[in-house]
Amino acid sequence: MPEPTDPSRFRQSPDNPPMPLAEARARIVDSITPIMRTERVNLPEALHRVLAETMTSAIDVPGADNSSMDGYGFAAADVRASGDRLAIVGDSLAGHPFAGALKAGDCIRIMTGAVVPSGVDTVVMQENTREDDGHLVIETVPAAGSNIRPAGEDLTRGDVVLRAGQYLRPADIAVLASIGQAQVTVHARPRVAFFSTGDELRPIDGPIEPGQIYDSNRYGLAALLAELGMEGINMGVVGDSRAALRAAFAEAADNADAIVTSGGVSVGAADFVLDVLGEQGSVDFWRVAIKPGKPLAFGTIGSARFFGLPGNPVSTAVTFLQLVRPALVRMAGGQPAPPTRFYLPTRHALDKRPGRENFLRARMDMTKPTPDVCGVDHQGSGVMRSMSVADCFIVLPAEQGAVAAGELVCVEPFAQTLWGGGRPTDGVRSSPDRAPRGMYIACD
Ligand code: AMP
Ligand code: MG
Repeated sequence: MPEPTDPSRFRQSPDNPPMPLAEARARIVDSITPIMRTERVNLPEALHRVLAETMTSAIDVPGADNSSMDGYGFAAADVRASGDRLAIVGDSLAGHPFAGALKAGDCIRIMTGAVVPSGVDTVVMQENTREDDGHLVIETVPAAGSNIRPAGEDLTRGDVVLRAGQYLRPADIAVLASIGQAQVTVHARPRVAFFSTGDELRPIDGPIEPGQIYDSNRYGLAALLAELGMEGINMGVVGDSRAALRAAFAEAADNADAIVTSGGVSVGAADFVLDVLGEQGSVDFWRVAIKPGKPLAFGTIGSARFFGLPGNPVSTAVTFLQLVRPALVRMAGGQPAPPTRFYLPTRHALDKRPGRENFLRARMDMTKPTPDVCGVDHQGSGVMRSMSVADCFIVLPAEQGAVAAGELVCVEPFAQTLWGGGRPTDGVRSSPDRAPRGMYIACD
């Protein structure tokens, strides 16, 4: 067990300013030991897992020269000009190769994916031919060698297909299937215990009284963990008491590689997460210079890494994406990649004071000749719908002040945007001046 830390030394003071985000991220990722335990899984279960072995192909893909068109195969030397005729002597279909031999002046009908027999070096697409009395008339003569995919075009025997440490995406699953890989060895999934803290939180399948709220963060966290391919251990809601937190932390540390909590990590009268983390484990740092999401605590309990995320739902989501996700990717045996970012002009002026790196929720409009980005109207850290209607963050550096309309700003699309396309605009208001309270977005 690490030495207990006195959490008071992490309390706000001029000597102890919030840590810059990049430093916090590097510090977290560098402290993670990847899980080296591996398991053999059937290929369909390997999606969103990290490959633990470098895969080479034992076969050529495709295994034989084959046609890329439905058409006719012949020897280029037999055809000189449009209108030339060839005798059709057989068929080659995918899965049913032509068994005979071609003589000079012969051709075969050949379908996409069918093996190209010896004697054929060119395929003409069906649309450029006509049949006449058992003969083929070639109307547009293709260049010699056209429409044939050579054996090994995709992969040659011995090629490295994927490397150890790669996170498996749907295309990778298809490539592994194309080399007949029914099972693969992957890193064991990190076990991530997560729970919400807060006496105001209620289950989502019952009523709520004034002052109570539904425990939405735990559902958001469960979804984020599932999307990352983690093994989530859902520990429910823990009340705002030191005793309850102690018991939950101990149970989580016994069962998990990482612990993610939401709430109770700020300076409120009922915020005990930092104190209990210091008692039961160690606090590596507290507070990051990020908005939303400043009061984040990172530390260790037993052998588990601990992430105490702030309770405001947008803060929980932003700190998870910026700090917990790269840590879990590393823990899972992968290499966290820097997020995709680019610059777009901002449609509206943006308020900002120097101090913290800001993650404004925004929408990109990439459909017009001069694309731009538009911040959603309500940037409150409690307004989760600002994340739901957004498709990207506008990332403003810590030292940045206010931004004028039309200036270039750094945009970080949500990964889901890249996978799943944009968000529908229904129910989204078009102008900040016209949007009444409670409407969220300012995009035309
Ligand atoms: P805390 O970080 O505990 O001070 O909480 C900050 C704000 O986030 C408060 O308004 C909480 O009610 C809210 N909050 C905390 N936990 C959750 C949760 N699990 N789901 C939704 N909102 C939460
Ligand atoms: Mg709370």
